[in-house]
Amino acid sequence: MENYNTKEVEEKLKKFWETDKIYKFNSGSKKPVYSVDTPPPYVSGEMHMGHAFSYSQQDFIIRFQRMFKGNVFYPFGTDDNGLPTERYVEKINKIKSKSMSRSAFIDLCLKTLKEMTPTFVQGYKDLGISADYSAYYSTIDKNSQKISQKSFIDLFNKGEIYKKEFPTLWCPECQTTIAQAELEDKELPSLFSTIKFKCDGKDLLIATTRPELLGACVAIFVHPTDKKHKTIIGKKAKVPIFDFEVPIIADNSADPDKGTGAMMVCSYGDKYDVDAINRHKLNPRVIFEKSGRINSGKYKGLSVKEARKKILEDLKNENLIKEQKEISHAVNVHDKCGTEIEFILTEQWFIKILDKKDIWISQGKKINWHPEAMYKRYENWVNGLEWDWSISRERHFGVPIPVWFCEKCKEIILPKENELPVDPLQIKKKCPKCKQEVIPEEKVLDTWATSSLTPQIASSLTKGVGIPFSLRPQAHDIIRTWAFYTIVKSYLHEKKLPWGNIMVSGYVTVGGVGMSKSKGTGISPKKVLEEYGADALRYWAAGSKLGSDLDYQEKDLVTGKKFVNKLWNASKFVFMNLKDYKMEKPKKLEKVDELFLMNLDKLIKSVTYRFETYDYSKARADVDDFFWRIFCDNYLEIVKKRIYNEKGDKKISAQYALYNSLLSIVKLIAPIMPFVTEEIYQTYFKGNEKIKSIHVSDWPKFKYQKESSEDSFDVLLDLISKIRQEKTKAQKPMNCEINLTLEKKDHDKVKELLNDLKDVTNAKEIKTGKFKVEIF
Ligand SMILES: [Zn+2]
Ligand SMILES: [Zn+2]
Repeated sequence: MENYNTKEVEEKLKKFWETDKIYKFNSGSKKPVYSVDTPPPYVSGEMHMGHAFSYSQQDFIIRFQRMFKGNVFYPFGTDDNGLPTERYVEKINKIKSKSMSRSAFIDLCLKTLKEMTPTFVQGYKDLGISADYSAYYSTIDKNSQKISQKSFIDLFNKGEIYKKEFPTLWCPECQTTIAQAELEDKELPSLFSTIKFKCDGKDLLIATTRPELLGACVAIFVHPTDKKHKTIIGKKAKVPIFDFEVPIIADNSADPDKGTGAMMVCSYGDKYDVDAINRHKLNPRVIFEKSGRINSGKYKGLSVKEARKKILEDLKNENLIKEQKEISHAVNVHDKCGTEIEFILTEQWFIKILDKKDIWISQGKKINWHPEAMYKRYENWVNGLEWDWSISRERHFGVPIPVWFCEKCKEIILPKENELPVDPLQIKKKCPKCKQEVIPEEKVLDTWATSSLTPQIASSLTKGVGIPFSLRPQAHDIIRTWAFYTIVKSYLHEKKLPWGNIMVSGYVTVGGVGMSKSKGTGISPKKVLEEYGADALRYWAAGSKLGSDLDYQEKDLVTGKKFVNKLWNASKFVFMNLKDYKMEKPKKLEKVDELFLMNLDKLIKSVTYRFETYDYSKARADVDDFFWRIFCDNYLEIVKKRIYNEKGDKKISAQYALYNSLLSIVKLIAPIMPFVTEEIYQTYFKGNEKIKSIHVSDWPKFKYQKESSEDSFDVLLDLISKIRQEKTKAQKPMNCEINLTLEKKDHDKVKELLNDLKDVTNAKEIKTGKFKVEIF
């Protein structure tokens, strides 16, 4: 092939890798297993740039490990149940799940998934992600459901799961409970209104941003040392408009400096209210129903926002507002839909996590975090936990909670293991105690309850792999969910760590800001692959340190593509010079070849260390510099003449060095640029090397154990560069003849390399004296 044709090569090699099962895990191998707890991406139309970025980065490390150690288990899964999938299916089918029966909606989800999953997964193959796609799972497939339900039953039997009626975080838009980890802060404008309550016939002023909760007020709190309110503690206050009375209670949590110092406690405005009501055993007065609308009285049917507006109007008309000011404050919204969350009293299932914070911290500390600073995010999250893990969801498309209840004797009935996976709605059961028909649980498990078991699900696909896995790659925004919950589950089930290492990637930005489809800055990896090819995209993704964000800039793709072409053309050139090379080793290496190979050794050493420490961006930079500057610009030029003009050992020495250095360079960059390196390997090296793919060949070893203490090679390169500058200055071609005068100290340093210097600079003679380049 004359010019490197990205598209043609990539299509051909993808087929080759798949049919020859290059990345297939060999459970029978004696080599130690390197296992990866691959992130299963949410299935959607096509891969987005953030995924192209982070999956490339994990693939760099995994490809390196495959060449370095040998036996890699790199399965591929898709996450395709729970809210994100439901919302996606609702959107593309223009329907609402709540207006369909559960079974009809599940059928629609499965049908939609079946249609779109193959194209979606193809995106990862196109990017060159070296997963074993035959070790595939979906988090909603039968096997995953079974493992997830088994986990529920195990934890229930261990007393780690309980069911409780509890004011839980509720999303009125998605109509389901959500977990603390799904909250996001959003800065929103609000009105801070000082409202007139009555106590002893006098005004009692209370400031609030949530007047719609007046009807849910159950108490007024004041601080015990608050002089202004001392005399009213123990009395009752009348709630404006609603005209019922609530107790005035002294509580340390009231801040005398906030608002008027008196605060209303409602069921439920926030987490604080939930605690306060529990602490004082107050009777909740719940006014919002699950739809987010008021359930009774004059404001019945109004949504939170409507009620807020109407009540403020009514207060104003009755002159019950003392003052109002506009503020901006952070409110909790649901991360999936941006809706302000509410607290609603519902019956939910929880996994106990609050009682084991110290265990989560010590388990987290035992894992190697890359970069190390990411551990802090984990620790902060654990320390800030305020709720047990709520795992039930009022949704359709998820793993069913495998439970039935007996209304009469309150018995909870679980299925046997051989019944799994089970949908309780599909199976009638009788209570073993009272023989009454039992009621199936309608809720499904939160998707994290299943994806927290990816190590267990993945290891069920093969023999010879179990926890702890070698590596968990993931993004930093799901440390608090995916990483945390996986650590929790592995501990609760097996008292083990899920993995030894976790690598955490950053985000893609455009002009320093997060990519977003709505802002029009979403860039499709598919388009980039079309234009620049996978190697160029991956080259770009290797451009920032692990964990750091990386700006998307087209010029980096151009640089990547240039590197691909240069690698291809340099290889072509090298093998033109190796036509008569019979793989012999010279009896003695020429000095310059030996020095060059020592430099190559240094490169191998450093790149190996970089990959071992997850520092692929420096690995790329090292190879980049060596390849362009030392290999192409200098070494190729130095040996060219010798290969043309010499015979015997002098020539063989150069050919030996060329063959081995190019093979090493190509291998060192193969984890980052798998396509062009494979193509070069297949075209030029495979005949001699025999191994069927570069990606399962051995990682280069350092041959020259001794470090070169001589800097003569560097001096040589330095001189060459200076002489070229002189030629450029004189506007002469690089091959013009010269007479060269070197400083004595430089001359001494390169005295064994003078012939090479002559060859490469076309110098007729070299003298000593003041540095001078005489150009003819
Ligand atoms: Zn929502
Ligand atoms: Zn019963």
